[in-house]
Amino acid sequence: MAGTQNLDIAMAKKIVDPKKPGAIVKMPPKTAPVASTLSESPTPTSLAPKSSPAKSERPAATPPAARAEGVAATPAPARNEKLATSPVAAMAEITAASPTAAMTGEPAARPKRGMSEEPATKPASVEVEETATKPHPVKAEEPAPKPVPVKSEETTANPPPLTIDTSELLATAPALDLTGMPESAPAPPVEVPPEVQPPAPEREEEEPESVHILEPYPEQPDTSQAPSPSVYHGPSLYIVQITPEMAPVAKVGGLGDVVFGLTRELAIRGNHVEIILPKYDNLRYDHIFELHVAFQDLWVPWYEGAIHCTVYFGFVHDRKCFFIEPHSPDNFFNRGAIYGFNDDLLRYAFFSRAAMEFLFKAGKHPDIIHCHDWQTALVPVFLYEIYQHLGMTHPRVCLTIHNFKHQGVTGQELLRATGLGRPEHFFDYSRLRDNHNPHALNLLKGGIVYANFTTTVSPRYAFETRDGGQGFGLEPTLHTHHLKYGGVVNGIDYDVWNPEVDRYLPVRFGLDTLDGKYDNKRALRHRFMLADNAKPIVAFIGRLDPQKGLELVRHAIFYCLEHGAQFVLLGSSPDARINADFWGLKQMLNDSPDCHLEIGYDEELSHLIYAGADLLLVPSQFEPCGLTQLIALRYGTIPVVRAVGGLADTVFDKDYSHRPLHERNGYVFENYDHPGLESALGRAIACYFHHPDHFRELMKNAMRSDYSWNIPGIDYLNIYNYIRDK
Ligand code: ADP
Repeated sequence: MAGTQNLDIAMAKKIVDPKKPGAIVKMPPKTAPVASTLSESPTPTSLAPKSSPAKSERPAATPPAARAEGVAATPAPARNEKLATSPVAAMAEITAASPTAAMTGEPAARPKRGMSEEPATKPASVEVEETATKPHPVKAEEPAPKPVPVKSEETTANPPPLTIDTSELLATAPALDLTGMPESAPAPPVEVPPEVQPPAPEREEEEPESVHILEPYPEQPDTSQAPSPSVYHGPSLYIVQITPEMAPVAKVGGLGDVVFGLTRELAIRGNHVEIILPKYDNLRYDHIFELHVAFQDLWVPWYEGAIHCTVYFGFVHDRKCFFIEPHSPDNFFNRGAIYGFNDDLLRYAFFSRAAMEFLFKAGKHPDIIHCHDWQTALVPVFLYEIYQHLGMTHPRVCLTIHNFKHQGVTGQELLRATGLGRPEHFFDYSRLRDNHNPHALNLLKGGIVYANFTTTVSPRYAFETRDGGQGFGLEPTLHTHHLKYGGVVNGIDYDVWNPEVDRYLPVRFGLDTLDGKYDNKRALRHRFMLADNAKPIVAFIGRLDPQKGLELVRHAIFYCLEHGAQFVLLGSSPDARINADFWGLKQMLNDSPDCHLEIGYDEELSHLIYAGADLLLVPSQFEPCGLTQLIALRYGTIPVVRAVGGLADTVFDKDYSHRPLHERNGYVFENYDHPGLESALGRAIACYFHHPDHFRELMKNAMRSDYSWNIPGIDYLNIYNYIRDK
């Protein structure tokens, strides 16, 4: 487990090695704020030392005026807050309630509960803390501050969404065989675009042109009354996932979660599923069972020779996994990290070739090979350019693109290394030639061209990448192959992300035991040494990547501190400058009783944050699907998101969505700027304080949303079945 540990007093004000996972780091009291290059956001005003007594928390249905202003637009000057107990007493409680205790099977002492702090339908008469904000009355049904309205869904333009809809598609679909034999097929009752087009490497693609930007993406129609199209009537399939990541053994981001969750869903539906991964030296071997050699001598062609590999087999929580271990001085997968090396392109080109060679040599004939992102985008290229001619004619390939930002753009050497050769063949715009750099090959483009079907991880992102300028140069390719391109929203694994059985939580809870959430909130505060008060906790969990809207995250921290909320962050970046920025910010905010920034990666801790926070912020610049908002929903934590990609497909604004009230589950803003963010965050905080009964209903709506793998699993099966006989 990733180093979650209890606090002790000695640590409390010490800088701990930031690289040590799970270490709770409190900086020494600062002497001067560290300059951050993140933005021009104002220096926070509430940076009071954590040494004054805390007030009890619980939003009352009729909020006191002082509280009301805490969330009104007027920024509040800082107010000193104190921990509820002495540091020693606090530490004792932290230890008792720590998730670690729960994990090790020790009975986790329930934190002492004072008054329930959750927004209660029935108001509790609680003495609330003062705020320094000037009081003014807040109107009963009017969230404050006044929001910048989210665009009404009815008022947007209506180009067709890229939701996969197979109904018309299949009757006219041409064959996906590279030789181009057209073939019709019966229409399965699923979603996919109106027709499918075979990989067409021989077809001339248009010269790359400037990005074609269409009107705004249409809001999704209200399908609440429509019968679910997700039914699968096809046969059981043999599916092989070839992937660079799978949670929990090799996870960097959402891709790892997707492979883990989708695989389980496919298996419980009666399909035979295997996964092929690199055998990284930093795999979480504690999650791999019965690991043994499955194929001793696999020789993988590489440059003019071949690299000797051993293939291992093991179970990862019942999933059947093969791990490829090359024995070569290149040391491809023994580097202590998954990504971040100069030769990443060659590393994953090798892995893709090795995976195909393994299938071939082991005599495996899957119906479907499902590959992921640029790292394994060469798989369909190898299949149709090499292995098909060696007799491997059966498998069909589905490529899922989790993020268009990373495409694997490289030079001609790749062709020599992998044995593909024939630069004149592959350096063609209809195949792998990069749309912008005529001297480069683009692996992701090759994957789109050669795969039998390409998906991305939400219909909205499918639209944005093809027509909304988010395709990072692949728009013309997506247009050419649009008939075999669509979006399927990711699910999350409800065995892992389920507050009713989550072993990392000090107190489990569900829809009927919602109060348990507030024990987790208290445990989270103790763990981060935050004041125990009436404020909502706003959380951010994610990679500290510019894609995630870091400037808005930074702004949100100060906005929350000035508007009566606490803020916690869990994140890290491979980019040293970004990490340094957030370390500076952490130092600046070290003494705030209402803020904690945890710079690092800690899976277990993330569970406690999802459970203990009231709101989860996802202000991304772009977001293919996003998993954090889906997990938050499951834990009754209300997402506050920007209306992009999968966020727009899964979060429906409490005040502005056209969806029925019971389907609204969060707060949404459009514009990537401070007023945009504040319009949603301000409404969320205001609702927490002034309409606790509404907020509680929203939490229940969130927890009722079904973002399991159930429906996406069926969608993928229908895609597989559709391409299977092409
Ligand atoms: P992306 O794939 O772009 O990183 P997603 O939202 O799709 O983003 O998936 C992120 C996943 O990684 C979620 O499961 C989230 O909980 C997890 N995660 C991200 N950062 C951290 C972190 N610092 N510690 C623990 N889990 C993290």
